Amino acid sequence: MSNSNGISTGQCLCGAVRYEVRGELTAPHACHCGQCRRQSGHYVAATSAKRSEFTLLADAPLKWYRSSQFARRGFCADCGSALFWDDDSDDISINVGSLDLPTGLKLERHIFVEDKADYYEIDGDLPKFIGSDTPA
Ligand SMILES: [Zn+2]
Ligand SMILES: [Zn+2]
Repeated sequence: MSNSNGISTGQCLCGAVRYEVRGELTAPHACHCGQCRRQSGHYVAATSAKRSEFTLLADAPLKWYRSSQFARRGFCADCGSALFWDDDSDDISINVGSLDLPTGLKLERHIFVEDKADYYEIDGDLPKFIGSDTPA
């Protein structure tokens, strides 16, 4: 799903990093891993776009943090917004909260539930996974 015109746009809190996606966004997941928690202050909901359909419109303060051997996390160095997760595949992961509304998206599942912090519960009926794809 994407907005009715087929184009989704988003930005960081201060607006200095802006992007657009011309194409489908995947159904978002909520990631409860420790890295997402540290970076965002809670858990992260993310969708993904095909790299070929993703364009940065403004990115002067965009910084990349190498968070693991296979991935890096993009954030705005001016306002601190966490925006992207990139593992050099054909897709780029986008934090859903940075999209302009309406997103047309619906959260589909929870991943890395084994890493969940102790201060909240995962409510609701959405499927839960250990890691990214082992049913919990
Ligand atoms: Zn910003
Ligand atoms: Zn995560």
